[in-house]
Amino acid sequence: MAVTPESRRWDSLFAQRTRGDVGEGIAAVLAFLAVPDLISFAGGFPDPLTFPRERASALLAEFAEAGEAQAFQYAPTRGLAGPLDALAGRIESLQGRRPGDDELLITSGGMEALELVGKSFLDRGDVVVVEAPTYLGAIMAFRSFEAEVAAVPIDAHGLDVDELERQLAAGLRPKLLYVIPDHQNPAGVSLSGERRTALVDLARRHGFLIVEDVAYRELGFEDDAAPSLWSLAPDVVVQAGTTSKTFFPGVRLGWAVGPAEVTAQLVVAKQNTDQCASALGQRLFEEYVRRGWIEEQLALSRELYRRKCERMLAALERCMPEGTQWTHPEGGFFSWLTLPSGRDAVDLAQRAVEQGVGVVPGVPFFPDDRGGDNVRLSFSMVGEDQIDDGIERLASLV
Ligand code: PMP
Repeated sequence: MAVTPESRRWDSLFAQRTRGDVGEGIAAVLAFLAVPDLISFAGGFPDPLTFPRERASALLAEFAEAGEAQAFQYAPTRGLAGPLDALAGRIESLQGRRPGDDELLITSGGMEALELVGKSFLDRGDVVVVEAPTYLGAIMAFRSFEAEVAAVPIDAHGLDVDELERQLAAGLRPKLLYVIPDHQNPAGVSLSGERRTALVDLARRHGFLIVEDVAYRELGFEDDAAPSLWSLAPDVVVQAGTTSKTFFPGVRLGWAVGPAEVTAQLVVAKQNTDQCASALGQRLFEEYVRRGWIEEQLALSRELYRRKCERMLAALERCMPEGTQWTHPEGGFFSWLTLPSGRDAVDLAQRAVEQGVGVVPGVPFFPDDRGGDNVRLSFSMVGEDQIDDGIERLASLV
């Protein structure tokens, strides 16, 4: 019998590592965006008000007029020299340590940095420890290499490092520990200074690599960031960064900085991923940094997100029924809601969409089956004047 397109079952040919629940989470979050007129607290998207439209277009015109070739050409896998230098300088001014030339590479977004780390380190069954809850893209990335993802709880001060220490003493043997120390996604909490020191100490004693995701680090509402884990311990930390929340995500640009031996391996992995990050994006970002424009944009962004966050927290305070709890972020994009006992977050999210409000239920942010009574609220993209209305509608459903 001839095999017709209808009768062919491609999914039976899919690789083992793509099976199971590695691929649905983010697609489900992004699908919310398609619903028209939704007041969306769903996606962790930057506000389009922060996009540097005129400056990006002026820079493009400059490149064209100057006859520049490198912005339009392939780039070296590690990145173009100018953008690498600008990025290293920026990391030095923000984190107090300048990466060596062999410690830094430019990636196609923070997500690719995680992918490259996974690809370089993980064999089937290797253990990765994550925070519970954590960024669902990271859970998906590590699972796609058939890793076992184990979760250690967080509280208002970030990852519970004492609990991690207990689990290590009881025999937990991770290769990697993935953590978002600043204004975490999804919970909006930050890792305390004390715990940062304790965590790098554990990594040194137990021989695992810390994967530090700094996606929201530059978006604190105040200037009081604790030292980055990489600056504390460049020997045991690889940091994944992104320009998506501070420049614009359409450019798909990020970085990885870590021990020279590690980044050399990531560069090898990148050669058969995309070979190089967008040269055009790298040059735009370089100029944006060198002219001080990034600092101007950041000041506006931080103020905008602070205002939105305050408004959302005030609305929660006013409207949410007794027994509902939420975190009080000091930066980033998210607050994390815990519903009164007995309430189901998936059911709430569905009913909320019917009422024109988008939220993400907590379940996909855990590698196990926790999160049934949690909801992630993102204040980053929702219109300021829609926040009160959105939270009122949500609260009436709780
Ligand atoms: N890490 C975290 C914690 C994130 O929230 C995101 C974006 N949602 C990323 C990484 C991915 O960023 P990028 O757009 O650079 O791939």
